[in-house]
Parts: sequence; structure tokens; C-alpha cells
Amino acid sequence: MKDLIVESPLNEQELCVKCGFCCDGTLFSFAVLQAGEQGDLPEKIEQSYSKEDDREFFKLPCSYFCGKCTIYDKKRASICSAFRCQLLKDFSKDKITQTNAIKIIENAAKFREEIYSLYRQIFGKDYTMSFRDLLVDLGKFGREDSENNSLNKSIELLRVKCNIFETLLIKNFKSIKNFERLLSTSMEMT
Ligand code: SF4
Ligand code: SF4
Repeated sequence: MKDLIVESPLNEQELCVKCGFCCDGTLFSFAVLQAGEQGDLPEKIEQSYSKEDDREFFKLPCSYFCGKCTIYDKKRASICSAFRCQLLKDFSKDKITQTNAIKIIENAAKFREEIYSLYRQIFGKDYTMSFRDLLVDLGKFGREDSENNSLNKSIELLRVKCNIFETLLIKNFKSIKNFERLLSTSMEMT
């Protein structure tokens, strides 16, 4: 099969190079594969292949992500060239300027760094996981696992920051439907 290399317009690539949230485990834990793609994928993607029922995917963060995609000009999974987050779609439709889109990405990256820093302070270990793996890790702690009140408070603060960050990700990078669903769920809970 002839390799299909699809390139995005240059100004869109500039946004993605500054971001990488859809590759580095910030937005998603997995990237979906098309039926029949397995066996014809870059080696490291093959190594993180997984299947559940009829759905095939590979684990994120992607091993080819190192600040940016390191195999951009080579054949990748079809989702790699097909995926466009809401921010990119809005930018391509001139609903947001490049400057403002970059601002959103930079602010999100800064907020994520605050979360990692708080995680390091609380657990005293170097943070090497992705944001989605951090959420899983945090989920292992019960609300009042520790008798140390100050530790419980810090973990609660980390949870609040993660929830705010998740809301920001949905608002800016996922679809408006996701965001409306999130709002209606929060309203039902209050
Ligand atoms: S999340 Fe959007 S802007 Fe960021 S790298 Fe992915 S497609 Fe590009
Ligand atoms: S191959 Fe590149 S574009 Fe695809 S998930 Fe990995 S880093 Fe992202």
C-alpha cells in the first residue's frame, strides 16, 4: 500500500507544534485505529497496540512524541493526520486568531505544569506521567486515606485543580457538545 502522508496547512502546524496535547496524554489516554491498520504501523505504535471488543487503539502518550511528533513526515496511523481538535477547527474557520489560540495553549500548558508541580510537592517524587495517567494515579487515593489532615487537604486541592484543568480542556479543545454535557452534569449534581 502506498504511504499516505497528509500535511496540515503551515499555520495550523505551528499551533500543533506548540501544543501536542492530543499526542502526549493530556487530552486522551488512547488513539483509535482503523480496522486493518495493525501490522502496517510505525514500530512503537505497534508495540502499544491494544484491542477492546471491536475497538482498536494505541496507548498515549505516543512514544514518537518528544516535544512534537518526531515522525511527522513519515507514515503514521490515520488518526494522526485526521484528528483536529476544536481549537484547530475554530482557528481554520477564523473563529479565533492565531495569537489567541497560542495563548490558550500556553496558558493550558502553564496550568498543567502547576498541577505537576503540586503533585511533586505532595508525593515527593519526580513526575513523569502524562496528565491522564496522573488522573488514574490520583483516583487510587480514597478521599480520606491518610490520617494526615494536611496531606488530605493537599490531595483535595490537587483534585480541584485537575477538575478545573479538565473543564478547560473540554471547553477549548473538545466539542461544544462535550462542554454542554459537562455543564448539564455539574448542574444536576448541584
Ligand atoms: S490538541 Fe489540537 S492544537 Fe493541539 S496538537 Fe492536537 S490538533 Fe493540534
Ligand atoms: S505518531 Fe506523531 S502525531 Fe501520531 S500520536 Fe504519535 S506523536 Fe502524535
